[in-house]
Amino acid sequence: MNLAIDAPAPAAPDCADDGTWLACIECDETFAPFEDVRYTCDECDGLLEVRYADPPTFDEFGSGASADGPDRGVWRYREALPFDLGVTLPEGDTPLHRVPRIEEAVGVDALRIKHEGMNPTGSFKDRGMTVGVRVAKELGVGALACASTGNTSAALAAYGGRGDMQTLVLLPAGKVAAGKVAQASLHGARILEVDGNFDACLDIVQELAARGEAYLLNSLNPFRLEGQKTIGFEILEEFYADYGTFPDRIVLPVGNAGNTSALYKGFRELVQAGALDVEQVPKLTGVQAEGAAPMVEAVEEGNDEIRRWEDVETRATAIRIGNPVNAPKAIPGIRNTDGTAVAVSDNEITAAQRHLAAEGVGVEPASAASVAGLKKLRRSGVVDDDERVVCLTTGHLLKDPEAAYEAGGDPEPVPNDVEAVLDHLHG
Ligand SMILES: *Cc1c(COP(=O)(O)O)cnc(C)c1O
Ligand SMILES: [Zn+2]
Repeated sequence: MNLAIDAPAPAAPDCADDGTWLACIECDETFAPFEDVRYTCDECDGLLEVRYADPPTFDEFGSGASADGPDRGVWRYREALPFDLGVTLPEGDTPLHRVPRIEEAVGVDALRIKHEGMNPTGSFKDRGMTVGVRVAKELGVGALACASTGNTSAALAAYGGRGDMQTLVLLPAGKVAAGKVAQASLHGARILEVDGNFDACLDIVQELAARGEAYLLNSLNPFRLEGQKTIGFEILEEFYADYGTFPDRIVLPVGNAGNTSALYKGFRELVQAGALDVEQVPKLTGVQAEGAAPMVEAVEEGNDEIRRWEDVETRATAIRIGNPVNAPKAIPGIRNTDGTAVAVSDNEITAAQRHLAAEGVGVEPASAASVAGLKKLRRSGVVDDDERVVCLTTGHLLKDPEAAYEAGGDPEPVPNDVEAVLDHLHG
């Protein structure tokens, strides 16, 4: 399998455009990046990856000195991206929260929470869209589309609107959290509710894209992952600034495994540039819900491919996915970094969501899976007590108000009277 952690920087093929090209991760076929619309390999249908002749070191990343514009967030990493600036709101620069009480309860040397819910539309999907919509402009397409468990549709609608393009989203009927549908709707997407799960929506929208209806911006699109790899760069830089070392492990929720793939790719590029040693790459640790855990199954059984789960169910609707399309990129990422994958129950997810909220960090259920997974791996001894860990929380609490209401306490009705309120409080 390709995607070795210590693969040298590739030489640019003739089809490269300014040192950037697309390569198939299965057969190594290369393609010009912006000439035609293409999502997978023409030869073997394998996943494509964006490659660069000259991957950057930390020194080449922007200084972050400017408060706005290209020198902040995702675009601070423009040397590692196919363009200098995208359609931006702007995204990235998310907090790396300290959570001393959870750190103590879990029992690790250090625990930080990278809260991607603090992006413009409330999830990390914005990092992918700022690059993806820029590429759509380069390709000259007029309409964008995605299948979504919710957050991709919210981000696509917002960034499509920002870029003055039409947007079409396919959602699994009845299985998308209210905040996300509201965003997609108000930002102007045309919303189709499909009588099927996310995987069925993706099958349909892939076919629509193949027939030229719209440009596909699911994480199958390799350019989206370019934006998302900047999560890994921010974690490394910020963690190093505080601890003088990189984290041992990054724990993240897994749906289509786009982030797992993207973080691994970013780290490989730093290794290629000589900016990071192989031993310094954090162990990528994926977490899925028990009711939707095909990646965990593949990792546990040592398989290179996943078995598609037809029936998936979990309260964490953002990761209610049975056929993670980026598995061929993510499985090597987990394996080659000495990471692992683990499944958690919905109740463990809700407990972790409460735990984070108690420390002021409001996340949606899928996000809390990372912390739930860390707790479980610590209990089983897979994670050591001397590890320094970053958990990724992918989306904001307000994305899924119903789940938040259910996880939180009930409001108590009281009469409109001070004495009665005092009686109620103390009585
Ligand atoms: C999209 C999403 C995920 C899944 O991420 P992948 O990169 O597809 O594995 C997890 N959590 C939230 C909140 C999401 O929106
Ligand atoms: Zn191929």
